[in-house]
Amino acid sequence: MNAPGSWNRLPRVTPDATHALTQRHAGLPARLPRPLLAHGNGRSYGDVCLTERGTLLLTRGLDRFIEFDAERGLLRCEAGTTLAEVLALTVPCGWFLPCTPGTRLATVGGAVANDVHGKNHHVAGSFGHHVHALTLARSDGSVLHCRPDDDGWFAATVGGLGLTGLILEVQLALLPIHNPWLHTASWRFGNLDAFWPLSRQAEADWPYTVAWIDCLARGRARGRGLLMAGRHAAPQPRLPQFHERRRRIPFDPPFSLVNGLSLRAFNALYYRQPTHPGGTLGHYVPFFYPLDAIQRWNRIYGRRGFYQYQCVIPPESAEDAIAALLDAVARRGDGSFLAVLKTLGHAPAPGMLSFCRPGTTLALDFPNRGRDTQRLLADLDAIVSAAGGALYPAKDARMPAHLFQSGFPEWEAFSRFIDPDFSSRFWQRVTP
Ligand SMILES: Cc1cc2nc3c(=O)[nH]c(=O)nc-3n(C[C@H](O)[C@H](O)[C@H](O)COP(=O)(O)OP(=O)(O)OC[C@H]3O[C@@H](n4cnc5c(N)ncnc54)[C@H](O)[C@@H]3O)c2cc1C
Repeated sequence: MNAPGSWNRLPRVTPDATHALTQRHAGLPARLPRPLLAHGNGRSYGDVCLTERGTLLLTRGLDRFIEFDAERGLLRCEAGTTLAEVLALTVPCGWFLPCTPGTRLATVGGAVANDVHGKNHHVAGSFGHHVHALTLARSDGSVLHCRPDDDGWFAATVGGLGLTGLILEVQLALLPIHNPWLHTASWRFGNLDAFWPLSRQAEADWPYTVAWIDCLARGRARGRGLLMAGRHAAPQPRLPQFHERRRRIPFDPPFSLVNGLSLRAFNALYYRQPTHPGGTLGHYVPFFYPLDAIQRWNRIYGRRGFYQYQCVIPPESAEDAIAALLDAVARRGDGSFLAVLKTLGHAPAPGMLSFCRPGTTLALDFPNRGRDTQRLLADLDAIVSAAGGALYPAKDARMPAHLFQSGFPEWEAFSRFIDPDFSSRFWQRVTP
């Protein structure tokens, strides 16, 4: 059996053992090699969900719904349940996830441990803001019941990168909806200068906003792109039918299909797609999860995998730093298919190591071209660091320790909550 990996297929490491969990009351396995680390559905890009030594605890077997109050929208489920499984239960009852990442194939435990965010961070905060309670199994045999007002265990575990122990179950407050549809709108902008006012206006008017950037465009077109916005639809007299179309990348190409030529063609086509400034109706699946429609899309980068680079830049330096990052990428002609720009709001982070903070976040994907890619990413690090920004651990396979420590100044205070039997390759890389 192949060792469980992460979504970008980097780094490739094999733990000493894997152990599939199925019973939340069974306690942690006693005799397996240490350190331990929970592995949800491997939708992180990098090594927060990997260990080279010890045992990966596979949580997908912990997928039971424990309690669902369909009157109040409160759900208690095991941590290995995927967001897709949650939605399949709750959407027909009129409830949606209050915050969702761009894949519904993440587990609830993974969403807590990375304190993930969605397109509505500016109004709704991150995943942890909607968690009312969670239980945590520790290697000393104790089970902790954590709540936002406890003495630190909740704040350490939300965004705690799986290091405080094994999350067994989570109680989540859901968002009421009338139906599975959204009222959506989109606009084209010609460059980065045009993006900022458009984005500010959209954030004032819409709960969900996100922009795609053509990061190969240079000169006056630098930062051109599309801004998408949405809100859950009002009750409708009649709803359209929705049929989900799924495709699959059937095999591993020997090299990356993402190259200068394919990127230029894709970006030009994508930029010119029709927009809907006046609004239209769209189903939640393609609006929130466009990439889930192509199973194993990570294969397009070939066997060497790819890096995702996601940073957040504080508001005061965001405009200059995002321009500098796009310049650095365009200079190397090493653009990214999926360049996503999003404003994060001012809600205080629920976790000690939460990534989300006020500012603008930019996410880029690059095929792994060895040293050339490492050099480009080091150039980007220098810009992020000078701007007082931080990189997202959920999307990282290589950030230098100093960048983690400056971006997450509470890491030392957090360390006292780490379970002595737990660790990850990420943590070993970024801390002494
Ligand atoms: C297409 C795509 C789009 C994405 N979009 C976004 C986005 O918009 N916003 C965003 O924030 N993220 C996004 N992500 C990242 C993804 O949401 C996170 O990495 C998420 O944490 C993955 O969950 P997982 O269940 O696969 O966990 P894994 O990747 O397997 O693990 C992630 C972390 O959670 C820990 N963990 C998992 N289960 C448990 C448990 N039961 N107890 C303790 N720790 C646990 C692991 O140890 C690890 O540290 C995206 C990923 C993909 C592939």
